[in-house]
Amino acid sequence: MKKILSLSSIILFFFSFAAVADEPVKYVISFPNAVHHEARISMSISEIPAGKLTVRMSRSSPGRYATHEFGKNVYNVQAANEQGKSLTINQVQGDVYEIPDHNGKLTVSYTIFGNWIDGTYLGIDETHAHMNMPATFMWAQGFEQRPIQLQINDLDKYGWKVATQLKPDTDAKIFTAANLQYFLDSPVELSAFKLSSWKDINTDKNVQTIRLSAHSADDQTVIDGYAKMVERMVTEAKAVFGELPTFDFGTYTFLQDVNTENAGDGMEHRNSTVIVERTDKISGNEEDLLSTFSHEFFHAWNVERIRPKTLEPFNFEHANMSNELWFAEGFTQYYGELILKRAGYRDLDTYCGTLKNLLNGVLNAPGANTFPATQMSRYAVFADAGVAVDQTNQVNIFTSYYIYGATIALALDLRLRSEFNLSLDDYMKAVWVTHGKTEIPYTVSDLQKVLSKLTNTAFADDFFTRYVYGTDKNDYKKLLAKAGLVLRHPMADKASIGMVRLSPVNGKLRVAMNTLKGTAAYEAGLDIGDFLLKIGSDESKSSADLETILAKHKPGEEVEITYEHRKTIKNVKVKLQANNSMEIVPAEKAGLKLTPAMEKFRKSWLSSSLN
Ligand SMILES: [Zn+2]
Repeated sequence: MKKILSLSSIILFFFSFAAVADEPVKYVISFPNAVHHEARISMSISEIPAGKLTVRMSRSSPGRYATHEFGKNVYNVQAANEQGKSLTINQVQGDVYEIPDHNGKLTVSYTIFGNWIDGTYLGIDETHAHMNMPATFMWAQGFEQRPIQLQINDLDKYGWKVATQLKPDTDAKIFTAANLQYFLDSPVELSAFKLSSWKDINTDKNVQTIRLSAHSADDQTVIDGYAKMVERMVTEAKAVFGELPTFDFGTYTFLQDVNTENAGDGMEHRNSTVIVERTDKISGNEEDLLSTFSHEFFHAWNVERIRPKTLEPFNFEHANMSNELWFAEGFTQYYGELILKRAGYRDLDTYCGTLKNLLNGVLNAPGANTFPATQMSRYAVFADAGVAVDQTNQVNIFTSYYIYGATIALALDLRLRSEFNLSLDDYMKAVWVTHGKTEIPYTVSDLQKVLSKLTNTAFADDFFTRYVYGTDKNDYKKLLAKAGLVLRHPMADKASIGMVRLSPVNGKLRVAMNTLKGTAAYEAGLDIGDFLLKIGSDESKSSADLETILAKHKPGEEVEITYEHRKTIKNVKVKLQANNSMEIVPAEKAGLKLTPAMEKFRKSWLSSSLN
């Protein structure tokens, strides 16, 4: 709608607009009862238009693709006007509250409980407050564009400092965000963490600071030593794209928390990442812990700036569903370990083990053989730490978009290298230039266009049609051979009933997971909760028994399986299969010749291009 306004009304309009838009939403958080995991939070809003005000907790969180009920940990919710007089506040949904009457300015306050340390929730005790923002802060509907101020009380009481990507004021007590989206994407760690930082000179000569804040039982020397390792990893990741992103306020922060009581997680944000590790110390675990750092830092490009359209903007009332997680998470998964190999933190055998796990998890999975990577991405709204009390059929209908996408990345990398004298690094650079630096959100077809430009239309169309939109799989054996890596099936002559998770219960073997479609166990009708009793005439009371029994048989042989289902004994004849698990071995260790061409291919793929 277009409307012609008089000059005076334009001025008035802008004045009133400015007052509304600029008046920040002010949060104050205090910790009167940290030992029992509680915080008290107030949210003050002014310039509220007449009519009811709705405030709520979020149901999803940046980087976490399933919904979560953050409202369950909120209580003692109150509203008051400027004079401190109580206002009526009605809980209209579990996590939604309405204030029907106010005079344009009010404060909502509430108590929140949090005792879960990961990238999604809130965890408070006397040692720290580890805050994922959607799990901690309510917000008011219609005020999403207002700037935000956060005041943190009780820092001295607990001896805490503040680590966050939020912009601090001069004495680092008040932190600001431009709007709600930014605020909820900016986790905060309050603790007596140790800090180590370094400067990076970017390709455009811009100097940025990278900080490692570590809340752990390690001393400063360990943190400084570890920061050196992280710096090496950062440099190797930077080499993929040719430059670091430009971080807001010139800083990027790793918010690391290490404790055996932690849940364990990594969660990327625009200029920071939360890294929660479930171990006693950094010291002695450095190389293992780097996995999460490497994966999450790669997200500073791939997800935070090379951003799927489907994740933009964050929907805090419901999860964002995405077709692109096979690329956003899967390609990140692939590079996470590849960068550590190039940086010298993984040897060839370890890296072969990583590739083996990826390929076993995808090529032998019913999910990936039935559904394309795009569909597996969409299932993230249920699979990504989504909680269900009923059983799902995930083992048969879902293959993680992390590993599915990583195998697509592996194939594309090896094919670009062997068919075009290019590499996946070239492709990532091209996607960065087109969609990352420019921050133009992408779709799957945009990714195809970039590949088409880099290679040719026929290749890109074929690759996306068969391996992204379709369920075809690349010839990994042939592709890996170019790098002198042998993909083989070492147990192909061993009989199997398929991968079945079994646990001993009262001297019997209980099926602990749904059986996998296409396996002998599935064909036999064996179900979760059943007891596997016999194969042929041999009783199977333990996993060791089962192995011994299967060793007596050959793939293709017909046997009778006896099992108990809800107290009924069943006997079913099935054909045993070959054990199809794979391994990847360097040619030189498999008694084969590593040719100079293979060596060259392998070096350019897996070795650092840096000095
Ligand atoms: Zn990730």
